[in-house]
Amino acid sequence: MTESNKVRTRFAPSPTGFMHIGNLRSALYEYLVAKSHKGAFILRIEDTDQDRIVEGSIEVIYRTLSTCGLIHDEGPDIGGPYAPYIQSERLDRYLPYATRLVEEGKAYYCFCNRAEQTEAEYNGYDRRCRDLPAEEVAAHMAAGDSFVIRQKMPLTGETSFTDQVFGTITVENKELEDQVLIKSDGFPTYNFANVIDDHEMGITHVVRGSEYLSSTPKYNLLYEALGWEIPIYVHLPLILGEDGSKLSKRHCATSFADLVELGYLPEAIINYIAFLGWSPGDDTRELFTLQELENVFSTSGINKSPAIFSLDKLNWFNEQYLRDMPGDDFIDLIRPWTDKVFGDRFYDLSVLASVLQTRIHKLADIPDLIDFMVEPDPLTLDLYVQKRSKLRPESALEILEHLYPILEELRVWSHDSIKEELDLYLEQSGHKLGRVMGAIRPSLSGRNVTPGGAIEMLLILGREESLRRLGYASEYLRQQS
Ligand code: GLU
Repeated sequence: MTESNKVRTRFAPSPTGFMHIGNLRSALYEYLVAKSHKGAFILRIEDTDQDRIVEGSIEVIYRTLSTCGLIHDEGPDIGGPYAPYIQSERLDRYLPYATRLVEEGKAYYCFCNRAEQTEAEYNGYDRRCRDLPAEEVAAHMAAGDSFVIRQKMPLTGETSFTDQVFGTITVENKELEDQVLIKSDGFPTYNFANVIDDHEMGITHVVRGSEYLSSTPKYNLLYEALGWEIPIYVHLPLILGEDGSKLSKRHCATSFADLVELGYLPEAIINYIAFLGWSPGDDTRELFTLQELENVFSTSGINKSPAIFSLDKLNWFNEQYLRDMPGDDFIDLIRPWTDKVFGDRFYDLSVLASVLQTRIHKLADIPDLIDFMVEPDPLTLDLYVQKRSKLRPESALEILEHLYPILEELRVWSHDSIKEELDLYLEQSGHKLGRVMGAIRPSLSGRNVTPGGAIEMLLILGREESLRRLGYASEYLRQQS
């Protein structure tokens, strides 16, 4: 493939807030369309609508993309990684194209007073200025009247295009308003700047959310008016929550930053969102690194029906990534979360980490799972009534009274030595394993469910604290009996 027909895509976010999962999916697919063709991926910040800019969002976009490995291939050279293209820094480029269209009779100055128009009148403009005599235009200009530049849409016929995902879309031209290209503040509209930039940046594939499908005929008429080649369009399906409504904060955390904050790994998020609207055909694998996605991705795998965002499925992806990581890396990852609970108390994280690594969906699950280690929940008799193992408070007391001295005598506090003694006790006492564990677990935690088995809990708490809690539980049961 030569340089001139190299695939080029862009991610063109407006800095209007935080990185929603839908935006990140657009970025991912744009990146993958480029990379699967050995093409270039470009980042362009669309900030021409100054009123909608939210401070800090460019930084968030930038940080998110780099955390996810969606690195753009070009941009202003600032030494080090490329800067993104920023529309507001390119403002002088747009007006000359609009002026050219006016000169060619394809656009016109509109002097209708914006302040006196409703939003509907402004957008569904009645074309009053479309055919103003030249002298009238000149008089307005001489008087310094403010103006916008509008495109002359064809009044008859149809505009049709084929989207790679949604197929052929046709609209009646009479439905299209004379869209504003340059606003009265001299800024281009988003619609205009987007087309100019896509052309100037040589974008071959415009990949974006399906909410832009209905505007695309207008963009195509602009390409035609300017005599430019129309890019290939790949519109992406909507993302819905499990109840079928548009995915929003009501469903769950929906921004990348919020998900990371909950302890979802960027690799797992990327892997999951790759599947929000795409599938790898016959390949039944689900786990893909970004690099692997680059190799298998194809727009033919994009589905036009809405994708459903499932937190359970994201949990599943995250679990796979957590489980597959080396134990030491997992310890480093959980330390900020365990620190929240343990403060400056010392706990050996190795056993705890191995227990948590196979049990959590996300890192934010950790504090609730382990806080009993600092302070057990209050004991109740119900904890010792277990149908399955036929445990009763009386048998629990008997078990604890027997086990306490055995554990106290243990010379080495290790998994093997504890297990050896417990096995011996099971043999001698005739109790089943479930019943003995059922007596130990709530005594150590105040809960029936803990991460890890009783032996692991004994190890994590250590000899002294374990014996203290077992002794306290015996005392409690004795008093209640
Ligand atoms: N700035 C638009 C947005 O954030 C981009 C749309 C496009 O990709 O063309 O939704």
